Amino acid sequence: MLFSELGLDNRIVQALENQKLTETTPIQRQAIPYAAHGRDILGCAKTGSGKTLAFVIPIIARLISQKAMTKRDPRAMILAPTRELAKQVFQVTRDMARALNLKTALIVGGDNYNDQAKVLRKDPHILVGTPGRVADHLSDRSFFLNGLEILVYDEADRMLDLGFSEQLLAIHRQADHRKRQTLLFSATLDDPKLRHLLDSLLNNPQEIMLDASYELHTDIRQSLFYSDHVEHKQALLKHELATQQYNQAIVFVATKADADRLSSWLQQAKLNCVALHGDLLQNQRANVINAFGNGQHDIMVCTDLGARGLDLRKVNLVINFDLPKHVEEFVHRVGRTGRAGEKGSAISFVGPRDWLSYLALKKHITQELPVAVHPTLPGEFKGKTVTKNTSRNSSKKVKNKKRENAPKAYKKRIDNTSGTEVGHVPIKRKPRQKAEDNE
Ligand code: ADP
Ligand code: MG
Repeated sequence: MLFSELGLDNRIVQALENQKLTETTPIQRQAIPYAAHGRDILGCAKTGSGKTLAFVIPIIARLISQKAMTKRDPRAMILAPTRELAKQVFQVTRDMARALNLKTALIVGGDNYNDQAKVLRKDPHILVGTPGRVADHLSDRSFFLNGLEILVYDEADRMLDLGFSEQLLAIHRQADHRKRQTLLFSATLDDPKLRHLLDSLLNNPQEIMLDASYELHTDIRQSLFYSDHVEHKQALLKHELATQQYNQAIVFVATKADADRLSSWLQQAKLNCVALHGDLLQNQRANVINAFGNGQHDIMVCTDLGARGLDLRKVNLVINFDLPKHVEEFVHRVGRTGRAGEKGSAISFVGPRDWLSYLALKKHITQELPVAVHPTLPGEFKGKTVTKNTSRNSSKKVKNKKRENAPKAYKKRIDNTSGTEVGHVPIKRKPRQKAEDNE
């Protein structure tokens, strides 16, 4: 079905044609008619299937066909879990909005706050942003949401995972009026933790569930190598990067430090590689993604920061150096290839430390991952069965023993009146930070 057959305003069809887009994708042809008529949408479709335009087109359609409810408030807002994804969605939105004289703005963490406040005073019609920074501006009253007509959550499950449920609800409450329409999309919406959030955000949504979250993507050829330890994984990685045919590759690792370490190691091996993770400064993050997107590097090593939504069309090889803890992230990581009907490959290394993640993955995905045996680096590990320790007391004892032996951290206690040191108090440890903090 063509965009011109969806009953859209001609200017929208023309703007799409100018971008060489004429045929709809399945999620677009199913979601756009409902959304353009004001219905809430809960949309689930595989990675790379065109979900962005499935919500951008109805936003534009509604904004040009209806009168604004207020003079100054944004009329539509799109929230995404990472700065990189928000920027990409912003570019798609801006390209469409420009053609219809609608103003857009990008509001993400890491960019200058005051500059954003200035941009917000120019009353953009459509905002694209990350939930943390948007919520900050709202609580500082840089803008209001009384006139918001459409709110979109892209990759809603990831925003929840990253701990943004409070910000999402705060944003929702400020725009909680009868006329608001809500669209929510992801390739993975099976997590039961999502139910509560979905119930509070969406109003009688049209559910469009096109692809089962854990069905393997048919355009992505998967394989799995058992691996013994990090050195074995590195040897496998080097071998695969030297022998596979690919334009660009993304290698996913578990931590920010691993991303730096592995990227340097690959650079030493004379591979053209760059690292992306949340410890980089904002301009470094932007430079990395721009340079990789422009084809200046062959390989990007990254944490799950790069797992969601990024549309880098030259990537046709994804390697999971470690398996992600959450099954959904596996689906999204491998979904960085095989986009918009193109073919790609995904290789996963499974070592003893990945075993529990692998079992969880096996339980969820509908097909087995084909196990490949490496011709020159076969390794010893072939998977293991995990035995549960049933004696609770014994594990407690070990834990207590560890605690007793752990060195304690103290800080000096100063007497307030005399200012002299009067003893020591234990320091309360901060809770450990998440592996990746995207905002
Ligand atoms: P998703 O959000 O489902 O992962 P995206 O919205 O990022 O997918 O789109 C993936 C790619 O498909 C993008 O490069 C986009 O330009 C392209 N695309 C989207 N819609 C169409 C279409 N109707 N025809 C051709 N390509 C499209
Ligand atoms: Mg997307």
